[in-house]
Amino acid sequence: MAGEPEIAQALRQAGLRLTPQRYDVLAFLAARRVHATADEIFLGVNRAHPRLSRATVYNTLRALVRSGLVRELAGDGAAARFDARLQRHHHFVCDACGGIEDVEWFELPPALRQRGRGGGTVREIEVIFRGSCRQCAGRARRGGATGS
Ligand SMILES: [Zn+2]
Ligand SMILES: [Zn+2]
Repeated sequence: MAGEPEIAQALRQAGLRLTPQRYDVLAFLAARRVHATADEIFLGVNRAHPRLSRATVYNTLRALVRSGLVRELAGDGAAARFDARLQRHHHFVCDACGGIEDVEWFELPPALRQRGRGGGTVREIEVIFRGSCRQCAGRARRGGATGS
């Protein structure tokens, strides 16, 4: 679990000045391994220290995403979700409940970087697995699904 020195160091390495709001937002994401929306982060951070405005949280998230310390997950039409990426990982998204789970990191074949880049360069390739999570798959097996 990311401790205080680890978070301060991650900010420094990313070239970001350590500010209380950056620290709070990154610590919130790193400690919980959740994929929280900006609203959830705003509520969670202020539960600990009621001092950050919504705009401050949003701007802080932007800076962390730009620096590469936080990843923004496209929300399939829902609100974007944010994820501290002190440890790299892939994702699994449940079609039924929209839940997001981490999948242990593995490297993809370097040849993939050459494909579909349209003259640009590929920095990294991430995989999203889609299907039914354990709970939803279990519910379907117990007869909760329609038409089966
Ligand atoms: Zn599910
Ligand atoms: Zn994740």
